[in-house]
Amino acid sequence: MTSTLSIGTLHAEPGTKTRGTVPADLGTLTVDIPLTLVNGAHPGPRVLITAGVHGGEFTGIDAATRLAALLEPGELHGQVIVCPVANPPAVYQGRLGVSPLDGVNINRVFPGDPDGSPTERLAAWLFTHLLDGADAYVDLHSGGIDEVLDDFVGYRLTGDPQLDAKTADMASALGIEDVILGLNAEGGNSHAAAARQGIPAILVETGQLGERDAETARRLVTGLYGVLSRLGVLDTGPKATTAVRDWVWAAGVTAETTGLWYPEFTAGDDVTEGQVIGHVVDPADGQEHKVHTPATGRIFYGMRGLTVAPGAELAAIAVPAPGDSAH
Ligand SMILES: [Zn+2]
Repeated sequence: MTSTLSIGTLHAEPGTKTRGTVPADLGTLTVDIPLTLVNGAHPGPRVLITAGVHGGEFTGIDAATRLAALLEPGELHGQVIVCPVANPPAVYQGRLGVSPLDGVNINRVFPGDPDGSPTERLAAWLFTHLLDGADAYVDLHSGGIDEVLDDFVGYRLTGDPQLDAKTADMASALGIEDVILGLNAEGGNSHAAAARQGIPAILVETGQLGERDAETARRLVTGLYGVLSRLGVLDTGPKATTAVRDWVWAAGVTAETTGLWYPEFTAGDDVTEGQVIGHVVDPADGQEHKVHTPATGRIFYGMRGLTVAPGAELAAIAVPAPGDSAH
């Protein structure tokens, strides 16, 4: 049995594809959320793919847009919802991780609040209209305009062995070697909130510095075909499982002072505890503040922006997961 796929005012009958926008009321304004609904001719799971949760992250949006154009409903066993720009104010106005509407990072407030700030309302809209009812979820992010990043897939462990195994299987279908596990499903990330709902959900981080890179986007589209194939939604697509290396987050480094930022690392660097990874020069007094890494491990992403303020995230370090033999 196949049925009509409907999100707000958009509908796709079985065997058809519909592209358009659906208005989301954020209290003080309404934003139009772009959506492509691909309703397969054959029954199967419903897969949600989002990008543009943050502004300044180009590759994911590029890949989602390409995928929305490519998917053919006649070939699909199930339904695919592609939302290439989940957070239009952040993508089109701020081009930052926080929304220009209220300064909120939407990926810290899922599942949102229908009576909250505009960004909290947007999170609630996305959660209710898109995440709820999905059988699998892929959230595409990239290194932002001021961020170096080494490609990785992330997901949260929930303690439900069946769910965690299904999520791990999805993560291994993308063709990305490094997988970083979150040891619980707490917090306001969309993929964490989805995991708490029992939905296998992965975060995909590809590309860096907000760059357009057609090759990276095409590789990501191929990876998404791999995930859809693994989920049984497509018969075609790469079937291979990548031998992944599992990591866990070890430490985040944040700025302690205001100033000019001189990083001395790039993403993918292996660092040892105590190593200097950059320095901040305070223009007020010319003082140089060295920044040391608090842990040994690999930097998967880090700050490349020109200036920093206290609390700014400078680097995120992961270590091999216990028991991972691929390392
Ligand atoms: Zn992001």
